[in-house]
Amino acid sequence: TETRTTYKRVMLKISGEALMGDQGYGLHPPTVARIAQEVKSVHDMGVEICMVIGGGNIFRGLQGSAQGMERTTADYMGMLATVMNALAMQAALEDLGVFTRVISAIPMDQVCEPYIRRRAVRHLEKKRVCIFAAGTGNPYFTTDTAATLRANEMACEAIFKGTKVDGVYDKDPKKHADARRFDTISFDDVLVKHLQVMDASAIALARDNHLPIIVFSLDEPGGFSGILRGEGTYTRVS
Ligand code: UDP
Repeated sequence: TETRTTYKRVMLKISGEALMGDQGYGLHPPTVARIAQEVKSVHDMGVEICMVIGGGNIFRGLQGSAQGMERTTADYMGMLATVMNALAMQAALEDLGVFTRVISAIPMDQVCEPYIRRRAVRHLEKKRVCIFAAGTGNPYFTTDTAATLRANEMACEAIFKGTKVDGVYDKDPKKHADARRFDTISFDDVLVKHLQVMDASAIALARDNHLPIIVFSLDEPGGFSGILRGEGTYTRVS
């Protein structure tokens, strides 16, 4: 049927910037709602969904430290930004009737749940979308690494990395008309060729645990559910 997929549990990683639409900063509610709809259509297929959302639409640690702030403080601010994005996504999903939990690596019990692995697994089994917030809880990491870490812990079958383009290219397709997209590529090639997929620590963590990364375009309507059905174009890193 139309809704067939072999995936049982997946991780969706999106950047914070994916939530800001055409604005230069913050949250664009119609864009958040559109992505929530994408997640709902995959949820409707019976797939268990983990999500990690970045914080770059609000604050990035490197940007703060470039302005003279101590790096660890700036990174904690970045982690807090991801909590705001997670709450926005939770609200949008629950507007659509999808039950969710925001689970933070840094406990803040009045706001969301603390991360307890077995509890998160139980939520997934009960078909609640789990949005993992506050990254790994550690400075000097990124939300790409957090997504890879949680995907391993939750035994996801793959990480779906939603980006602005439909896969991994040999050079930036927005700048070079002759850029070529890879259908598949190895983790080692991504590292050696310095291709912009995820940061190197996330790639290494995925490689060492045989966790494939599917890079696809979040801008195509129906992209996420289509990719899970094997439609459309994407790059598989494995
Ligand atoms: N961050 C961190 N540790 C983590 C995850 C994130 O310190 O485990 C901070 C870091 O400062 C980063 C910011 O949170 O710049 C936002 O995350 P990221 O840059 O990954 O967001 P994205 O680029 O995906 O929007």
